[in-house]
Amino acid sequence: NLEKQQENEAIEEKAVIEWKKQSKFESYGIKSKLSIQEQRESLPVYQSRGELLKAVRENDFVVIVGETGSGKTTQITQYLAEDGFANRGIIACTQPRRVAAISVAKRVADEVNCKVGDEVGYTIRFEDCTGPNTKIKYMTDGMLEREALVDPLMSRYSVIMLDEAHERTIATDILFALLKDAVAKRKGTLKVIVTSATLDSTKFSQYFNNCPVFHIKGRTFPVKIYYTKTPELDYIEATIDTVIDVHVNNPDGDILVFLTGREEIETCCETIIEKMSILYKSDPNIKELIVLPIYSAMPSEMQSRIFDKAPPGKRKVVIATNIAETSITIDGILYVIDPGFVKVNAYDPKRSMDSLIIQPISKAQADQRSGRAGRTGPGVCYRLYTKNAYLKEMSLNTKPEILRQNLSHTILMLKAMGINDILKFQFMDKPNEDSILKALEELYILEALDEDGLLTEVGRLMAHFPMEPKLSKTLIKSFEFGCSYEVIEIISMLSVPDVFFRPRDKRELADKMKQRFDDYNGDHLTLLKIYRKWENNGFSKDWCTDNFINEKSMRKAKNVKKQLIKLLDTLNGKSKGKINLVLSSCDNKFDQTRKAFVSGFFENCAKKSTNHGRNDEDGVFKTLSDNLSVYIHPSSALFKIPGVEYVIYHTLVLTNREYMHYTTKIDPVWLIEYASKVFRRANEGELGINKKRERIQPLYNKFDTNESWRLSRGRR
Ligand code: ADP
Ligand code: MG
Repeated sequence: NLEKQQENEAIEEKAVIEWKKQSKFESYGIKSKLSIQEQRESLPVYQSRGELLKAVRENDFVVIVGETGSGKTTQITQYLAEDGFANRGIIACTQPRRVAAISVAKRVADEVNCKVGDEVGYTIRFEDCTGPNTKIKYMTDGMLEREALVDPLMSRYSVIMLDEAHERTIATDILFALLKDAVAKRKGTLKVIVTSATLDSTKFSQYFNNCPVFHIKGRTFPVKIYYTKTPELDYIEATIDTVIDVHVNNPDGDILVFLTGREEIETCCETIIEKMSILYKSDPNIKELIVLPIYSAMPSEMQSRIFDKAPPGKRKVVIATNIAETSITIDGILYVIDPGFVKVNAYDPKRSMDSLIIQPISKAQADQRSGRAGRTGPGVCYRLYTKNAYLKEMSLNTKPEILRQNLSHTILMLKAMGINDILKFQFMDKPNEDSILKALEELYILEALDEDGLLTEVGRLMAHFPMEPKLSKTLIKSFEFGCSYEVIEIISMLSVPDVFFRPRDKRELADKMKQRFDDYNGDHLTLLKIYRKWENNGFSKDWCTDNFINEKSMRKAKNVKKQLIKLLDTLNGKSKGKINLVLSSCDNKFDQTRKAFVSGFFENCAKKSTNHGRNDEDGVFKTLSDNLSVYIHPSSALFKIPGVEYVIYHTLVLTNREYMHYTTKIDPVWLIEYASKVFRRANEGELGINKKRERIQPLYNKFDTNESWRLSRGRR
């Protein structure tokens, strides 16, 4: 039924073209009967334009607090440009989320009437859409943080707006401190604006030398809040029922629903559409419900559809991740449905790994979500949890990311910026010593730091790459193993959404097709094979469709590869001969590629459990670092291969059991050779593992234990 799929895609594409036409049409007046200029002037922030500019002129730092939708993100950058700040440098505005950066840049480009990438552009990881004319640049906070590596003074910029600061991502938190330093050194030529939707303003102001706080009054209407009487057992089901209930029984007004991620959103959309089609048949008077998903991995043409007004007589429901909480405002929402959950990146110190977990939202988030219903008129919010849960169980605020995530990448960057004394770094909220120490340990055993806690040559190179240290180590080592092309291609494939396309009704066929690519050495090489097959087929779309491969992911991977190679070129060029990372291929000696991955991922190593029949089931592996029981995923190329003893994996995914995701067979001798800080040769060729404490003994030796984390104090 590939034809059907192609047909669907064709329909989708046609629809995209239609929407594009439509939105262009609307932005010239049909939609709201207001010209762009009138629309801009109708936003609450416009009332404060003069005062706001004055505050920025007179102060190095300004904190701005305003309701979501008041025009902070789209307008302030334009005011600054109109006021002449663009003549002194670029006006940057950071966003915690990629989708927000793209969406806002497109909107502002529309308003200024230019192409995205011209006067108004955006930069996100692996995608730079700016040009020599760019005056207003939206970017992820992570990208600006990376720029500080080469230019700590931020000399290209005249104003930097740290938007959505209340989200407290690690990158924003680090930028707080870096910008404070840069402003002090730039003596009045760099302005910093910090915006926030909630009322963290006192804390922000105090941190930025008691700077002024500027309030923008928003227009809001009262929102009536309903709670469920008892806790919901299945919040997806409850959400679906509530959407249909609201649609069938309530007057006009669009609906906004908050779910946690792509899969949930897609399931929910499908079910609503199914259920509605039954309702339409049974009752011809029921109005049409337009169901629109929004999540970050969605193509941007589809994303912009959520802003289009529902045609008369129809209602739209937007089903979103928490991106619609503060970063994106959709007009016309009168009903909000809030199941009360969010997906966050959390660090599990027990397993030393990051994972995405679904957790209850905070009170601040609940209030923010319900507020979304009261922008156009008096609204209603359905909270799918009890009032008691809201009052007694929810935490007040979301914990800053820096307090709950792995810091190794961040610390590597700080070290590369010359900030060795992590202790003295001006964190707004300082991470606890344990997590700092853990990160230093990880960097030490990866040989990014030496025994004094200072950056090694390898570490310095690693810091240039926007990826977790295990990956950047693999990449750097690939040059020694002569397999950099292979490793770059695999990394590219690992950094995009899943390339395997498994339509619900054709899982078996899709899995069979996938098996033909399986490499008996594991999933990393399988990914490489797929990339190369696609390349050999002229990057063909048909080839993807025929093989159940997601073409969009493949194109993204191709782009990541291009960006990585560009980054390497820049690095080689800028180093004036000091760095010479020459790209090469290992041809068919793929062991080299696996060795490179061992040198980065040796901590993610597991061994087949041998005590058959006892307590362990068949097929269980034990991680070497924590003795955790883990399994090869059924989708892995290694799933049915007999005799696999040692493996490394990319991540662990917890579903009903702990699965290794992207698993590759290795020779244990490689562990001894390429990870000598952790593994040694024991008796009779056995693999010996140094105790955690022993591995970092050199670090402890230098300092007394209680003060061990002061090793970050070293200087060079
Ligand atoms: P804030 O940053 O204060 O939350 P924004 O500047 O993001 O506010 O939004 C201001 C207004 O611009 C909102 O009312 C929103 O409807 C409109 N807007 C923003 N992005 C788009 C878009 N892509 N398409 C249509 N309207 C948009
Ligand atoms: Mg905003």
